[in-house]
Amino acid sequence: MKKDFSPTFLDFGPVQIYLARHFGFCYGVENAIEISFKTVEENAGKRIFLLSEMIHNPLVNEDLQKRGVEFLMDTNGNSLIDFATLTADDIVIIPAFGTTLDIENKLKNIGIRIEKYNTTCPFVEKVWNRAETIAAKNYTIIIHGKPRHEETRATFSHSANNAPTVIVNDMAETIELAKYITGEKPPELFYEEFKGKYSDGFNVSHDLERIGVVNQTTMLAGDTQAIADYLKQTMADKYNLSDDNVEERFADTRDTLCYATYENQTAVYGLLNTDADLAIVVGGYNSSNTSHLVELCEEKLPTYFIDSPGKIIDKERISHYDFHNKTEKETTGFLPAKDPVKILITSGASCPDALVEDVINKLTSYFAITKTAEETISQFA
Ligand code: SF4
Repeated sequence: MKKDFSPTFLDFGPVQIYLARHFGFCYGVENAIEISFKTVEENAGKRIFLLSEMIHNPLVNEDLQKRGVEFLMDTNGNSLIDFATLTADDIVIIPAFGTTLDIENKLKNIGIRIEKYNTTCPFVEKVWNRAETIAAKNYTIIIHGKPRHEETRATFSHSANNAPTVIVNDMAETIELAKYITGEKPPELFYEEFKGKYSDGFNVSHDLERIGVVNQTTMLAGDTQAIADYLKQTMADKYNLSDDNVEERFADTRDTLCYATYENQTAVYGLLNTDADLAIVVGGYNSSNTSHLVELCEEKLPTYFIDSPGKIIDKERISHYDFHNKTEKETTGFLPAKDPVKILITSGASCPDALVEDVINKLTSYFAITKTAEETISQFA
């Protein structure tokens, strides 16, 4: 019930854990998992499909597959099962990220009742609504997101249905996009440079005259703010506008991060105020929100991104994910030879809390701890 974002300190003696004030499962993920398991229970004998991974957590996805649920697509949108083999009797669950209008329509045309098994997170829908609101005022939508992420593809599809839309992945791309606003770059270059990231019929000469920014809900808050500020300033400079009238060209959309992303990221800033030796971040390797938590920790200290406690091989070795190079690698000597060793721990929005507990238990098992977990947490009872 703490009101601030300072971490919880778990003192086991020779090993001390700083646990993030907010970590792990969010409302959208819990809701999606609950609906999925209920769907399996209530529909024995029916074929049940998930459009793609329910959430970016391998254990949850494996659990659903063991219960007979099949995936129609991989996380990049590549088909695993041909939609032509589906019938109106089948059940298709839409994951928390939502999906594109094109896929919704394909399923509806087959006769599948998608509304009954739609687990799209309300915070993702809120972004779609925000985009729709500014589209109605004739703003073009700039989405700050990862172009291949399911959620960004879904948001792009919904947004592009209402307004010209373009995706920027990061500040570097935003700076290049701004050059088409200022006229520094010739319009014809845009179509190659932003290939696959703009809506059909996008006219770079007109469609960047009034803009608004929304984001994939799991991006880094500071990055989205910087991107929005940069574009706002670009519009103000180009059209000679002040704070009072910049809205003529730049829609007032405060960032569209969800509460869970905000709280998990803010809690990491709380962790980074400590004197820890290393950080362990638990979550699926293709989880956007988890990789952002890793990014924040990496700026300050050695950080190990793992998707399960099993990745801690022993007291010396850890197998962890380098999301910059998309490879898993093994590091020896990840726990420094000092007393006490101080470790930051957090997890992404699609990571069950039980995994974090298992990670803590595994780490403490390597030390001659002076207090049991029960004793350590009794102070919070
Ligand atoms: S991270 Fe946020 S937007 Fe995504 S499922 Fe969770 S609550 Fe919803």
